[in-house]
Amino acid sequence: MTFSPESSGFVQVRGAREHNLKDISVSIPRDALVVFTGVSGSGKSSLAFGTLYAEAQRRYLESVSPYARRLFHQVGAPNVDAIHGLPPAVALQQQRGAPTARSSVGSVTTLSNLLRMLYSRAGEYPEGQEIVYAEGFSPNTPEGACPGCHGLGHVYEVTEASMVPDPSLTIRERAVAAWPQAWGGQNQRDILVTLGIDVDVPWRDLPQSTRDWILFTDEQPVVPVYPGLTPEETRQAAERKLSPSYMGTFSSARRHVMHTFAHSESAAMRRRVQRYMIATQCLVCHGKRLRHEALAVTFAGYDITEFSRLPLKQVAELLRPYVEGKERGHTQRADRHPEQVIAQRRMAEDLAARLEVLLNLGLGYLQLERSTPTLSPGELQRLRLGTQLYSNLFGVVYVLDEPSAGLHPADTEALLAALDGLKVAGNSLFVVEHDLNVIRRADWLVDVGPAAGEQGGEILYSGPPKGLRKVTTSQTARYLFREERAELHEPRAPSGWLELSRVTRNNLSKLSVRFPLGVLTAVTGVSGSGKSTLVSQVLVDTLMAHFGQKVISEDEEDAEDTSPVTVAQLGGNLASLARLVRVDQKPIGRTPRSNMATYTGLLDHVRKLFAATPLAKKRKYSAGRFSFNVKGGRCEHCQGEGWVMVELLFLPSVYAPCPVCHGARYDATTLEVEYQGKNIAEVLGMTVDTAWDFFRDDPLVFRTLNTLREVGLSYLRLGQPATELSGGEAQRIKLATELQRNGRGTSIYVLDEPTTGLHPADVQLLIRQLTRLVDTGNTVITVEHDMQVVASSDWVIDIGPGAGDEGGQIVAQGTPREVAQARRSRTAPYLAQALG
Ligand code: ADP
Ligand code: ADP
Ligand code: ZN
Ligand code: ZN
Repeated sequence: MTFSPESSGFVQVRGAREHNLKDISVSIPRDALVVFTGVSGSGKSSLAFGTLYAEAQRRYLESVSPYARRLFHQVGAPNVDAIHGLPPAVALQQQRGAPTARSSVGSVTTLSNLLRMLYSRAGEYPEGQEIVYAEGFSPNTPEGACPGCHGLGHVYEVTEASMVPDPSLTIRERAVAAWPQAWGGQNQRDILVTLGIDVDVPWRDLPQSTRDWILFTDEQPVVPVYPGLTPEETRQAAERKLSPSYMGTFSSARRHVMHTFAHSESAAMRRRVQRYMIATQCLVCHGKRLRHEALAVTFAGYDITEFSRLPLKQVAELLRPYVEGKERGHTQRADRHPEQVIAQRRMAEDLAARLEVLLNLGLGYLQLERSTPTLSPGELQRLRLGTQLYSNLFGVVYVLDEPSAGLHPADTEALLAALDGLKVAGNSLFVVEHDLNVIRRADWLVDVGPAAGEQGGEILYSGPPKGLRKVTTSQTARYLFREERAELHEPRAPSGWLELSRVTRNNLSKLSVRFPLGVLTAVTGVSGSGKSTLVSQVLVDTLMAHFGQKVISEDEEDAEDTSPVTVAQLGGNLASLARLVRVDQKPIGRTPRSNMATYTGLLDHVRKLFAATPLAKKRKYSAGRFSFNVKGGRCEHCQGEGWVMVELLFLPSVYAPCPVCHGARYDATTLEVEYQGKNIAEVLGMTVDTAWDFFRDDPLVFRTLNTLREVGLSYLRLGQPATELSGGEAQRIKLATELQRNGRGTSIYVLDEPTTGLHPADVQLLIRQLTRLVDTGNTVITVEHDMQVVASSDWVIDIGPGAGDEGGQIVAQGTPREVAQARRSRTAPYLAQALG
């Protein structure tokens, strides 16, 4: 293929200025694999997503809706003079911030629809049963849902044991833990006093009938309440008909729990009462969520729910005989029901072909029923990619965000083949990527740089990969052609060991493993082998429980998805450890109200500096005045967010700048206060680098800024909202927050693929930071695919050999050099190469 920028086969961008882009113009070929490269924060996403995809989307929406047009006026179209030759675009972006909507592998890939059709038309029905329509196989429809559990598969129950965890307590001592805390609970107790129930004997000594009534009755008697009186005084007051403080309504503990769970607006309240509920399997469907008519229909011997719980790889194997017309009883059935056999074969072929693509993308260990919130962002993106391969679109640009994320080097070939499939079908691929193996295979590279933020935003090169070699300003060129390597060192000796034994969860079964302390450990293996299960789930949960740290689940709706079967015993030199710190890529906040300055604690110091200025003292402004999170100095129109949420019909809601403060977040009088000539909004608008100069004389602020620079975030603005930060940026902010504390060498840091979103140059920086943590005696354990990181670690634990049922074993462990020689390890050859 030859490309000439003047030809019509190009997308031409003129004058792009989105975010940090410096009025750039560039021509990018269509019908090709185009990879956007550059260090993190250089502007790759601003060009690929912020400009090209945003413009394609704007054009599309404008063509369908006048309302959307008004909206774009408000939110702002991408900042670019012109784009010519841009086809419609489909983005396969990884989630930034927003949690994934609740769905499953089957629904995301639309395979569930096909499967329902297959069961409806070509399933084996019991003699005499009428056909079940496709909807009848979905637990989310009234036709399909099991009437016992409304399609949930489980029912919630409360029991005496769940609501009264400690029956040796009296009611006054809050034996009924499920009742509300504080006043609400006292109220119930005072009502029981009026009702003549002894609230000062241990719960277990009350008659069973009384206990049952208190916990389970549906009655809601309204009685006079005399708070503060003893039971005896209360009895007398009631006899004398003294006027009570108020009339109280009784509510049994079950009523309180069920009502709060079903109706409370507050997620925290729902979460609190959920602790007293036990989910038990529905007795009608045995957890299979469907009506029995649907469950009676089988295919290859499985009902549809069982089928949805098989790994995709096994599903493909079950389908093969049907595709080949070799299933048992084929000939007899072909004689008796030829139409059914033809339908069966057609649908089996279709399903098998779609599955094939997913298997090639290394996703054969997933099940259709697996819910998407439990998938990694990389897995989800690859599922979407696999689905697109079958959508039969052509003439479209697919814009992708680091599709190699979460992929073992051994799986990258399949990804490239999938991208190639889309290209051959007549589409264009614009891919933001850091993986050198993907970059090498591009038809065209657009290298953005030279550095991040203000120091980036220029096109260093646009052309076929080999031409990049000459570009001396390009960091990408250094790594792509000159094989810049991690500085290797002699592995450090562990200061002790942490032992996990009999680990049983997901695909791990009775696994025993030792993690060295005081060193950097990399846990490797193909996707789905069990790395995250071992490290991010079992190790983290076990250590949290050991340290008595609370497991904070941000999305309570997902709570039930974390598989409960965990058995693990902890042993080893535990005395030397004081706490566990997870440094993950989850957002540092879910609204524009959180940002780097608030998260790192930097803003607290800055607010004090403002409060100490003469004008602030004269006006009696305290440090709180300079917070945008509380009333006082903030702009009340947007409540200090600087943005207002615009709700859209049919579309996800978007944020638009606040019309009152224009994004400043503060009211006008607060902004009159200046520190060294800058107001607080201007300070929040500074990049880390600018602020580093500005706050030179303030040791506390300077120290934080210094650490932020060291983790490579000098280009970020202090007040940049959490919602605009990438996962990699959020992770580095967390790392910086840790590094600025005085390390005492007693922490254990757990990371899951910290190199996602990082250019090889940034990976070097990350390795240095992790090494610093280890140098002060801390322990770092990371799940990792990047062989530079693995080669630079002190110890490697390789899980596998395959994914799902074919994984879950320790294939090799030892120093990087030892693991690089392991026979069965799929990681070994790649590691050996990185070790040189
Ligand atoms: P890359 O994709 O190369 O990592 P980005 O395009 O995400 O880089 O970022 C380029 C610059 O634009 C960075 O300084 C980043 O902080 C900034 N930026 C990114 N998203 C936004 C946004 N929504 N609003 C303002 N600035 C942004
Ligand atoms: P890795 O981190 O090596 O990619 P995982 O630990 O994520 O692998 O997955 C190991 C196996 O456990 C896979 O078969 C995967 O499908 C399964 N698994 C992982 N998380 C969950 C979960 N939350 N629910 C059910 N199965 C899971
Ligand atoms: Zn049921
Ligand atoms: Zn405002």
